[in-house]
Amino acid sequence: MLNVEDVKKWMENFDNVIQEQRAYLSDLDTPIGDGDHGNNMARGMEAVMAAITDKDFADVPSIFKTIAMSLISKVGGASGPLYGTAFMEMAKIGNGDVKELIPAALAGIEKRGKAVPGEKTMVDVWTPASALVQKDALTVEGIDQAVESTKEMVATKGRASYVGDRSVGHIDPGAMSSGYLLKALLKAEG
Ligand code: ADP
Ligand code: MG
Ligand code: MG
Repeated sequence: MLNVEDVKKWMENFDNVIQEQRAYLSDLDTPIGDGDHGNNMARGMEAVMAAITDKDFADVPSIFKTIAMSLISKVGGASGPLYGTAFMEMAKIGNGDVKELIPAALAGIEKRGKAVPGEKTMVDVWTPASALVQKDALTVEGIDQAVESTKEMVATKGRASYVGDRSVGHIDPGAMSSGYLLKALLKAEG
């Protein structure tokens, strides 16, 4: 069960890896997209950290709402509204139970982006993660495997779908950043 402090730790962990891997995420987005994913996420997480650091929140839904708003207004691109919706849907759960939060985030991403598994998007990480978390079996290895699975997929949603078959052989950038987010959660739960 996550509390407000856990969510702050989660975001701190995620921000650290996003700032560290900013260039790598944009590199992943270069052959199959427009090369901005790392910059988008870094800008968004800067805004999230500014909005939550040293701020008081009454409960978990309030901090999730603040995170969602920061991501929606600052990330831009396709991923901004998708991550924003994920946090907005988690806010609606009303508690900090990851077994409810992760499936809610996935449902929000699916509803917003209309992607299904196998289309080489972040959905390909959130879908197995949601199944695993409900079995208390979400691990770094499970997350890495899901991220890696996007490499051989042909993109049929989002910008990467424009390159079609040439998207094969490249990991999806949004899948990678989603993997970072889920690993940051595991670390915060420690
Ligand atoms: P943009 O493509 O607008 O430049 P980003 O580069 O920040 O935005 O994000 C790209 C990522 O967004 C992709 O790698 C993919 O994971 C995700 N994405 C794009 N479209 C969709 C969609 N319809 N459903 C789910 N995820 C998507
Ligand atoms: Mg991009
Ligand atoms: Mg873009």
